[in-house]
Amino acid sequence: MTARTTVPAVDGWFTVPADGADPKLLGLRCDACGTYVFPPRPGGCPNPACTAETLTSTELSSVGTVWSYTANHYAPPPPYVAAEPFQPYPLAAVQMEAEGIIVLGQVAAGVPTDSLRVGQPMKLDLGVLSSDDEHDYLIYTWAPA
Ligand SMILES: [Zn+2]
Repeated sequence: MTARTTVPAVDGWFTVPADGADPKLLGLRCDACGTYVFPPRPGGCPNPACTAETLTSTELSSVGTVWSYTANHYAPPPPYVAAEPFQPYPLAAVQMEAEGIIVLGQVAAGVPTDSLRVGQPMKLDLGVLSSDDEHDYLIYTWAPA
């Protein structure tokens, strides 16, 4: 049996520290008006009052509070790899403390939906979305802080 390698399920959305440090989301920031963007995407500033054409890559903070949450009862379409049988899982929209933006993500494994509360402190974590013979595919998750 060979060891699987841990890799991000999506490149460029979050860090995977090898030294046990906290993971960080990778977003964009407008140098002109300070607007943050996550996930990173091409194009100019989304602030309608700003005309900046370029955004700068930046690490975001890793803490925030629950803005809203729900339980997902339907398997997302491929390329999402859903467990068989599908198990509902909680999603949280977390307002990031430093940036003010709201970032949707799966909640860390083992945290039941009915334990979540609006305003609850959360921190970024990593979890395994799926695995194959060679890789564990990581996603960012929100965990109670
Ligand atoms: Zn801007």
